[in-house]
Amino acid sequence: MEAISYERAGDVASALRAAQQPGTMYIGGGTNLLDLMKGGVARPMRLVDITHIGGLDTVASLPDGGLRIGALVRNSDAANHMAIRTQYPLLSQALLAGASAQLRNMATVGGNLMQRTRCPYFYDIAFDRCNKRTPGSGCAAIEGHNRTHAILGASAQCIAVNPSDMSVALAALDAVVRVVGPRGERVVPFAAFHRLPEDRPDTDTTLLPGELITAVDLPPPLFGDHAHYLKVRDRASYAFALVSVAAALQLDGRTIRQARIALGGVAHKPWRASVAEQMLSGQPLTDAALNRAAAAALRDARPQHDNAFKVQLAQRAIVRAVNLAAGGTGGVA
Ligand code: SF4
Repeated sequence: MEAISYERAGDVASALRAAQQPGTMYIGGGTNLLDLMKGGVARPMRLVDITHIGGLDTVASLPDGGLRIGALVRNSDAANHMAIRTQYPLLSQALLAGASAQLRNMATVGGNLMQRTRCPYFYDIAFDRCNKRTPGSGCAAIEGHNRTHAILGASAQCIAVNPSDMSVALAALDAVVRVVGPRGERVVPFAAFHRLPEDRPDTDTTLLPGELITAVDLPPPLFGDHAHYLKVRDRASYAFALVSVAAALQLDGRTIRQARIALGGVAHKPWRASVAEQMLSGQPLTDAALNRAAAAALRDARPQHDNAFKVQLAQRAIVRAVNLAAGGTGGVA
């Protein structure tokens, strides 16, 4: 057993100071980090508990009409917050699709952004080859079991997928992540927060050393009436997505004024289907237009030997999610 030190931070400044020591990790709800520690995958020398920092556990309106969700807001509180349920139902649906009720009660919004892939080779230290866990060691999944792995944006170093449902909705909604670090505060557009693996799969995000997530900002709500999060998984509860789709629309009658589509379970980061969005915007909502857009969204897919099924699954999920969104928020998958 390895000894670790533990410190409870009372404010952001003391958390940042504590994190300057090498081998330090922040801990919030701990729903992923403690699993990783128990399995020997994460081995911090020091934990800084941020859950007692004041002011990061609230949801507040922004002057532009948007919403600020503190990094320590629990997933269940965010999902059931009245403003999120009514104005950003896509986010509420995605949160409720994730994990179990017990985990949602513990997990924080900031921690959800930081959760790591569930690639089984990453989690089991009996496997020597995992570039994400041990850079330069190889990737056991490429020649191994890769049914749940990426079909878009993967590299020869790693084919893992991001497991978060919440992040798929935040990508579609153009959220921004607020962080603070030794060099001060900055805001990170959601599309720039998570990384593709490229030749550094050990690095999931663009956070700089010591930086702490303080909040997620949502722009003014545009998609409250027509939004749907569709999650396709092997069993109905407590499973990660094989494919998920966050779809949100602004409609003029049956014509799409604006479309937002993001995919989960297909890449190392939430995958925004920008080409499909552009193809649908300004178009009548027809099966033909949807099928063309869905095909374009997967045009660059490069499936692995076990997961070619995901290409068609993702296309069909896009069509279904957009149709359900068009039918009105609250449509049943
Ligand atoms: Fe490791 Fe990524 Fe390969 Fe999984 S896919 S074994 S996380 S390098």
